[in-house]
This record gives sequence, structure tokens and C-alpha cells, in this order.
Amino acid sequence: MSELRLEPVTRRWVVTGQRPALPDGHVAAGVCPFCPGNEHLTPKAICEKRDASGAWSVRAFHDRAPIFRIEGGANRRGEGMYDLMNALGAHEIVVETREHAVSLAHLPAEHVALALGVCRDRILDLKQDERFRYVSLFKDQVWAAPSVHGHAHAQVLATPVLPVFVEAEFRWCQFHFQKKDRCLLCDMLRQETEDPKRVVDQNEHFIALCPFASRSPYEMWVMPLSHSSSFERDLKDEERMRAFAAFYKSALERIEKISESLHVAVHTEPNLQAKGWPAGWWETLTEDFHWHVEINPDVEGQRRYLGSGGLYYNPIPAEEAALVLRALAPEPGSPAPRDPQT
Ligand SMILES: [Zn+2]
Ligand SMILES: [Zn+2]
Ligand SMILES: [Zn+2]
Repeated sequence: MSELRLEPVTRRWVVTGQRPALPDGHVAAGVCPFCPGNEHLTPKAICEKRDASGAWSVRAFHDRAPIFRIEGGANRRGEGMYDLMNALGAHEIVVETREHAVSLAHLPAEHVALALGVCRDRILDLKQDERFRYVSLFKDQVWAAPSVHGHAHAQVLATPVLPVFVEAEFRWCQFHFQKKDRCLLCDMLRQETEDPKRVVDQNEHFIALCPFASRSPYEMWVMPLSHSSSFERDLKDEERMRAFAAFYKSALERIEKISESLHVAVHTEPNLQAKGWPAGWWETLTEDFHWHVEINPDVEGQRRYLGSGGLYYNPIPAEEAALVLRALAPEPGSPAPRDPQT
């Protein structure tokens, strides 16, 4: 069984151990297991949305070769000075549409709301499990038809530990709140809206901006203007979800004009229901943390790391990126679907 090991110097959790073999041995080359008619090639659905004809339109299931196991306990233990535990967790795939080679940005806003609603519901469900301390929602969009890479999907990953990057965000947001009694991201939004040179788009409820120290060209964050620590609770109301989906879709449409390959991560609050949090850790979390979506397009040849220390080099300052992205406003109506052959 795989293990989660803590690297004590950086406090980074690492999964070690063999990943089960992908059952792709049974899948003929050129067949996409996420396409309608191939449901037998994936585990049975955990959650499905169906259209009027009864056909599924969004479908969630366990990863075909999960590194994490949902059964049993974490069995947190030590080995000398080191910490480790079983690779307990849940890794789910949300196939966002029946159509192969159509990205979320190219789907109608109502459908984007439906797909995001399934992701939200999976987070809410997994957070009822007090063994899980965090539920990640992310998306790696790389087009390579006809494999699964050419079929729009998101990933939901529940873990008994906090990913190191979100843990750092929680810590620094808490630190800011302790000093100033204000949410760090609300402060950021106040400054960014007063002088909107890094703002890409904004409406009554949501904002899209290029963060001051963008890590990569055209990095964009999408977040609510009103304070909320939780993506899944903030968007529980379907009308608000629809409003977010329309805004998010248009942000993706802009980004896709820069690059159709992109990485999306939703940063939301940890599972406050989980067992074993040190006392007082999240006392001010709902006030000090502000959920957001981080979108990083892959701009070939322009993303550079300096050494391996997490220091980034970005040749395009956020103000210039915002200027470009502002000009890439989506045309009214949905863009034409992508060519399924590409
Ligand atoms: Zn497909
Ligand atoms: Zn806030
Ligand atoms: Zn973040």
C-alpha cells in the first residue's frame, strides 16, 4: 500500500509506493474511456447529472488507478524522527461533458454551472468524512485527442493532510488577520479595484485579476468580491452558482486565447469538521481566508523556475498581462466548438 511521508525540512507530504496499473490494457488505442458508450471502462458513477432524455451530461467516478485508498484509517505513525501514514484519500474524476474535445470555456454557461455544481457537491460530501483534512479541486487541461486528455474533466482529491501550498496560504492569511484584523484578500481586492490596472474583468459579484507577483505569464485569479472562505458553501445557492459559472466561463475563454493548455486550482477552506486539528488552529479561518480560483495557462517557453527553490521568473508583468487579457473579451454567444480532431 502507498504511504504518505512527511519531508520534515519543508513539511511537504509525498506519496510513495507503486500506483496500481491503469486498466488501459483493456482499452483499444484511440478509444476515450470518458466518452459516452465507454462507461464500462471507468468505475461506476458516484454522481451523475442527466438531461431530459435520460443521458448523463456530467459524470463523477473514482480514478481508474487510484494512488489513494478510501478504506481504513490513516494510521498516523512515526519511524524514528519521521512521520508517515497510509495513503488514505479519495481521488475522483468529474467528466464535465459528454462531448469529446470541447473545453469548459466552449460549453454553455448553464452547463458550466452544472459541472461546477457536481464538483461542489463532491467537495461537500467528502468533507463530511472527518478523516479528510482537505479536498482539492483542480484541472489540468492538455489537449491530446483521442485519449482522456482530450475530454474535459476536473479532479477532486480528498486527503488526510494539507497540501503545502494551501497550508502556506492559510498561515499567511491568518498572520495578516492577527496583525490587522482584516482579510488579506479583501485588502488586496480593495487596492486592486481602486487602481484597476491588474483587473481583467469585474461584475457586481466577482473579479478576475492578474496577481501583482504572477508566477507565470497571464496567471489569473478569479474570486468573489464579497468575503467568503469556502467555494463550496458560497456557491451552494444555484442562482449564485449560475452567476459564478458565467463569469468563470468568460475568464476561461480569455485565457484560452492565450493557451488552450492550462492548470486550474480552486483554493478553499480546509475541512473544519476533520478530526485531530490542533486546538485553535482555525479559530479565525472563516474571517481570515478568502476562496479563489488560480488559473495558469501554459505559455510555451515562457514559464521558468529559477533553480528548484520555488522562485519564479515571469517575463510578462501582471499589468501588461491584464491589458492583453482585457482586450480578449469573449464575443457574445458561445465560441464555436473545437475541431474534435485536434
Ligand atoms: Zn472522450
Ligand atoms: Zn476576504
Ligand atoms: Zn491560492
